[in-house]
Amino acid sequence: MIYRKFDKLNIETSLLGFGCMRFPTMVDGKIDEEKAEEMLDFAIKNGVNYIDTAYPYHGGASEPFVGKVLSKYPRDSFFLATKLPIWQINTKEDVYRIFNDQLHRLKVDYIDFYLLHSMNQESLDKVKELGIVEICEQFRKEGKIKYLGFSFHDKYSVFEELINYYDWDFCQIQFNYIDKDTQAGIKGYELAKAKHIPMVIMEPIKGGLLARLPKEISDIFGIGENRKSDSSYALRYVADLDNVNVILSGMSNLEQVKDNVDTFSHYQKLSDDEKIMYEKVVTNLRKRLKNGCTACRYCMPCPFGVDIPGNFAIWNQYGMYDNKETFKNRVNHFIKNDKFADKCVKCGRCETLCPQHITIRDDLEHIIKDYNNIQYNN
Ligand code: SF4
Ligand code: SF4
Repeated sequence: MIYRKFDKLNIETSLLGFGCMRFPTMVDGKIDEEKAEEMLDFAIKNGVNYIDTAYPYHGGASEPFVGKVLSKYPRDSFFLATKLPIWQINTKEDVYRIFNDQLHRLKVDYIDFYLLHSMNQESLDKVKELGIVEICEQFRKEGKIKYLGFSFHDKYSVFEELINYYDWDFCQIQFNYIDKDTQAGIKGYELAKAKHIPMVIMEPIKGGLLARLPKEISDIFGIGENRKSDSSYALRYVADLDNVNVILSGMSNLEQVKDNVDTFSHYQKLSDDEKIMYEKVVTNLRKRLKNGCTACRYCMPCPFGVDIPGNFAIWNQYGMYDNKETFKNRVNHFIKNDKFADKCVKCGRCETLCPQHITIRDDLEHIIKDYNNIQYNN
């Protein structure tokens, strides 16, 4: 396992962090504790020392489970990260209540890395209004948290405002080789680096999509028995950024844990040839897009409830990654919420507003056809 030093904090963490939001589950949806514990134990035995959970993961069951497993290990042998769900906070008292509940659930006296969870403009306004950072500073003075940071999901301008709001110990953004310009993106990375704020990266494998590339794309990384997994290429791309201290992977089975541990145990920096391969992979993935929707939302709202950019996002992702099961599940969710393409009555209003001149009505028809093909032919 390779480790990176948080210069600012004078500690060293494993570059691979264990994300505790996608543990294996049983038929009733509860965490399969036997399998999940085996995964955590394997990771820890092989050098992973950064464990990341959050109040809402697994419907609130992740923290108590993680607390139970980690209680077997000396408290100073791991770094524990968890997050304050800002959207559940309405008063200062809520912060104290949830924080104390977290210490109780996790069976610890202190949390190493405490994050304001999933920050966006709305939550930043709330953090300022309620003085949440000041409360967290008080927790730090009392020795109940060691380092304060945030995880982020909004556009770059909000990231800029947030990172300049406080002298954060670290921050967490989503980043991977296909989404370099999404949310905080590479610009956010550069800004954090310039401010000497170390980074934790989430979604390095894009929720698993980059672990199962279509064959013709995957082959660009090479073929043959000795070729490493698609996941390893996704992880190494992020690892090449020197201001990244932890790369979180939300692992769902032991094979994934073993593969990720292997990636960071035999870690090699990217060669120039490999860097060219990533560009080729990205170009070829983009060629598979079904249409050129930029999600600008100028066409919205549809008077009949169709979430036009939402449908196209699902469809484009299906085109890029050929992920039939995810496509089907996401369409089913849209159908349930009356947002699916089948609600279109072809009034044509949206097409007059689309700057990309997308033939929206035809494309919505194609989505329905693709869905029906998967639904009835698989
Ligand atoms: S053409 Fe369809 S999607 Fe577009 S506005 Fe009319 S009903 Fe909505
Ligand atoms: S206006 Fe066109 S590009 Fe913009 S979200 Fe609608 S379909 Fe997509």
